[in-house]
Amino acid sequence: MARTILIAGNWKLNPADDAGALELLRQLKNRLAPFTRTEVAVMPPFTMLHLAAQILKDSRLALGAQNLYWEATGAFTGEISAPMLKAAGCKYVIIGHSERRQLFGETDATVARKIPAALQAGLVPVVCVGETLEQRESGQAQAVVHEQVRQALSGLPEAALRTLVIAYEPVWAIGTGRNATPEQAQEMHRFIRDLITDTTSAAVADELRILYGGSVKPDNARDLLGRPDIDGALVGGASLKAETFAAIVESGEIVS
Ligand code: PEP
Repeated sequence: MARTILIAGNWKLNPADDAGALELLRQLKNRLAPFTRTEVAVMPPFTMLHLAAQILKDSRLALGAQNLYWEATGAFTGEISAPMLKAAGCKYVIIGHSERRQLFGETDATVARKIPAALQAGLVPVVCVGETLEQRESGQAQAVVHEQVRQALSGLPEAALRTLVIAYEPVWAIGTGRNATPEQAQEMHRFIRDLITDTTSAAVADELRILYGGSVKPDNARDLLGRPDIDGALVGGASLKAETFAAIVESGEIVS
């Protein structure tokens, strides 16, 4: 089946202030207006979500968040819930980004708790998986990703799995300028899709979108997005400039 390409911009802890966010959002809205075949989402920091929702209303750009907590309310200082994100206008939420796993102690177990919370609130989880350089060099890349996917998706109903997005983000390629080759990425995406076929059904595996993330730039986007099992990109650094992000979206349009 033809899956709609999704290009999602993970702003991380950027820009420095609301004025920077406002400027970037306005530029994105203008530059992305002509593109209609590709789905686009931006994922700003929590405090900029309301502002972004206002600017993006009446546009084709969707809004996403970068993290959530699995409880809806309660004594959980510093946390943000899935219903709060939904109320702020989010459609997507990143879960288990490698920076959260490496810097903030997230594990496959916490990821597995966050996914149902997102789904229950009507958010689409963008579940990040990927191996470290050491794991790839010691031949464990597929085993690591297999286990991350298994733990993330176990117990989820088929209907939920169909809407979910997986982002394959090799840790060694994030923010390093070193992207996986299109062949390496396609190979892992195929591996993930086959895994989902084996554990659920070919119909679900065919529908579910698998994004690639890791130093996606205008000059490598077209080759990556042209591969049969790469259904979009999760973009970090290059999503902070309207010009580069729009060029990546344009690559998505060309291969769609
Ligand atoms: C990311 O943050 O998910 C990411 C892929 O970052 P970058 O594009 O900067 O490597």
